[in-house]
Amino acid sequence: MTAVLELHDVCAAYGPFRALFDVSLTIGPGEAVALLGPNGVGKTTVARVASGLVAPTSGRVEVDGVDLSGAPVHRYSRAGVAHAPEGRSVFATLSVEDNLVLSFRQSKGRQGVADALARAFEFFPVLEPRRRQLAGTLSGGQQRMLSMARVMVEAPKLLVADELSLGLAPIVVDQVYDTLGRLREAGTALLIVEQHVPHALALCDRVVLLGHGAVVWDGPAADAADVIADKVFRQAQDEPTGP
Ligand code: ATP
Repeated sequence: MTAVLELHDVCAAYGPFRALFDVSLTIGPGEAVALLGPNGVGKTTVARVASGLVAPTSGRVEVDGVDLSGAPVHRYSRAGVAHAPEGRSVFATLSVEDNLVLSFRQSKGRQGVADALARAFEFFPVLEPRRRQLAGTLSGGQQRMLSMARVMVEAPKLLVADELSLGLAPIVVDQVYDTLGRLREAGTALLIVEQHVPHALALCDRVVLLGHGAVVWDGPAADAADVIADKVFRQAQDEPTGP
């Protein structure tokens, strides 16, 4: 079966700074993969490469078997890749509905807005009673729901979710993960960048661990907790303990 996403030996850089070194990973249809690792190792960069926001300097990105390396981001979204970015990517001074309409006009055209709005409110019922509220006055969790709704006009083939739980209260993180679980059940594959390891492990089938811009481990989520604990333990042992 054709993979939804394949990265082959991807390198990426920000100007002279090399952020990724020969990263390869595959996500099958409907599969959920967690991308884990310490701060600054390149998780967000992998997420951006996967959705076409960062072009690889070398290597290949395939979506559904089609080589999209270096293609503009709209080709990725047309191929079914949605990106829910880190932070609260909403227009604070626009209403909930206007935020959605703005996105849906771009992705679906004028004719598709009404249907897309109905689907968004069906999937994120918390947003409907707040449709006229300014997005900036929503709670952190509601803003995260809105930023997810903006990219999910229809169940995408792959949702790339970057740190969706960042800064949220535990109960809201549960709600966000509940939504991700429902998306998964609807057949969407997931690439989840997450600091909150237990949630990611509970949702995902596979884990890819990154360290310094490279994949250091790729395996079943059931084995990941032991591997992570072992790596943290080794790191602690390697650190100097003083004179
Ligand atoms: P975090 O968990 O802190 O979000 P991360 O694992 O997602 O980190 P990235 O955000 O992908 O890591 O960053 C990887 C490296 O690239 C870091 O050293 C970061 O400082 C650098 N970097 C990220 N974005 C840029 C940018 N726009 N310009 C220059 N360097 C950048």
